[in-house]
Amino acid sequence: MSAEIGHALVVQHARDILARIERAARRSGRDPAQIRLVAATKGVAADKVQAALSAGVRVVGENRFQEAVGKMAAIGPRADLEWHFLGQVQRRKAKSIVGIFQLIHSLDSVELAQELNRRAEAVGIEQAVLVELNIGGEASKAGFSPEEVRPALRELDRMTHLSVRGLMTIPPPTTDTEQARPYFREVRERAQSYDEMGLTRVRMDELSMGMSNDFEVAVEEGATFVRVGTAIFGARDV
Ligand SMILES: *Cc1c(COP(=O)(O)O)cnc(C)c1O
Repeated sequence: MSAEIGHALVVQHARDILARIERAARRSGRDPAQIRLVAATKGVAADKVQAALSAGVRVVGENRFQEAVGKMAAIGPRADLEWHFLGQVQRRKAKSIVGIFQLIHSLDSVELAQELNRRAEAVGIEQAVLVELNIGGEASKAGFSPEEVRPALRELDRMTHLSVRGLMTIPPPTTDTEQARPYFREVRERAQSYDEMGLTRVRMDELSMGMSNDFEVAVEEGATFVRVGTAIFGARDV
């Protein structure tokens, strides 16, 4: 038996997560409309993604370009649906993802930004991105370390076809969700301080933080996107 779950359960889980996001928003005095659920769909087949969409999910987050393209074709164009990229961007895939995803959550180097910017200019679009912040300073994790962010943002601000919308983070693993709270809070405070740097194009409107285990704490601390996979689709095989 695999851990795969049926469509009805996916629908039930997705509705439950949306309701929990709404409750977390209300108890922290936030407007629930400010928070969007990104269904993290790596390894999840298109029919299961469809089930989540039928439950009200409107943003799909993928980690692998090829896998995403297959599902986009299967699901077809929908004006009410956004596709986001969550995974680490391999240099050779940088070109392919520009213009395919409404938002790339995982910008983790200035070099990658330059490549995305060049490609976006070539195809005549502006690519929206979030700057991935390695808030725990973990050697194993992608993203900018807190010390690297300010100089990086100054460079990103000059890239005319890249639109920085905010920050994304994955805090260090914790045993208790409350342990994630100070990290989320620090990310929000940092976003505020970056907002006051006087940059012209970089914006800090979006905070992508919180996953299956800690999304409610992230909402309480200011998340505008939460990225939830396991709690909707069940455990992944890989
Ligand atoms: C898979 C993934 C998620 C979702 O994680 P879950 O613990 O399954 O909710 C969130 N963010 C990123 C970047 C991911 O790759």
